[in-house]
Amino acid sequence: MRQLLFASWFGSIGSVGGRKASIVPLKVGMEVRSVPILSDNYSYLLIDRQKNVAAVVDPADPKKILAAVEEEGVKLTTILTTHHHWDHAGGNAEMRKAMPDLRVYAPKDDHIASATDEVEEGDQVSVVGSAHTLSVLGTPCHTRGHVCYHSTTAEAVFTGDTLFVGGCGRFFEGTASQMLKALDKLGSLPPQTKIFCGHEYTVANLKFALSVEPENQELQAKMNWATAQRKEGLPTIPSTIHDELQYNPFMRTSSKTLTNLYGSSDPVGVMKQLREAKNSF
Ligand SMILES: [Zn+2]
Repeated sequence: MRQLLFASWFGSIGSVGGRKASIVPLKVGMEVRSVPILSDNYSYLLIDRQKNVAAVVDPADPKKILAAVEEEGVKLTTILTTHHHWDHAGGNAEMRKAMPDLRVYAPKDDHIASATDEVEEGDQVSVVGSAHTLSVLGTPCHTRGHVCYHSTTAEAVFTGDTLFVGGCGRFFEGTASQMLKALDKLGSLPPQTKIFCGHEYTVANLKFALSVEPENQELQAKMNWATAQRKEGLPTIPSTIHDELQYNPFMRTSSKTLTNLYGSSDPVGVMKQLREAKNSF
């Protein structure tokens, strides 16, 4: 069996709403603090410890975010918005009211009123006050404008509702072909890249994955690990690109098991059938 990279690299820092927050150290002195919000969302603080500034990804529950910022003793300068859904972009206006100087990056094609800077594929964004920058990856499908934010130097990607651990987002405003392109783009990032996604859906996703690839040993191992994490109230993020390629069916549309299962060697067709199967699972 090939090795997975999902060893617990984070330390827990107390419980929020029945889910524990965690700190994950990254390369180049950056850190990610997960902030569990709403029923199963994750917002993230991306912290530059040296400059003592932070960006926040999808701060849909401003109270919890501001409390986490205070606890970390950092200056929040930047919002990174992945897409227009209320449980991701819905806190932006209130955040700007509380902190008028905030730079708010948001995807152009999602037309988010609270944006100060609209972004799309190929743009670079910065954590204001830090030298740290991230690239914008256009990943339309879940919404028309959905973007992910990738840090090459810190080796991390914030995937919103495009890529989840063991799954992907619903195709609300796009097609199977677009999701395939988006996941191919993410799948071609360096394998050690850590994935921070928008929801704690892992166990449910892996249950579905096991229904289509029951013999996949990496998948079985991930399920055992994820179940144990959740029993402790611990998050199952981050994952890595390397690991997702081993067991996430939506990133394995060209695998023999799935092309056989769906009787098609066309990855778009497999993607479409997988999504339909998951929707009614
Ligand atoms: Zn969404």
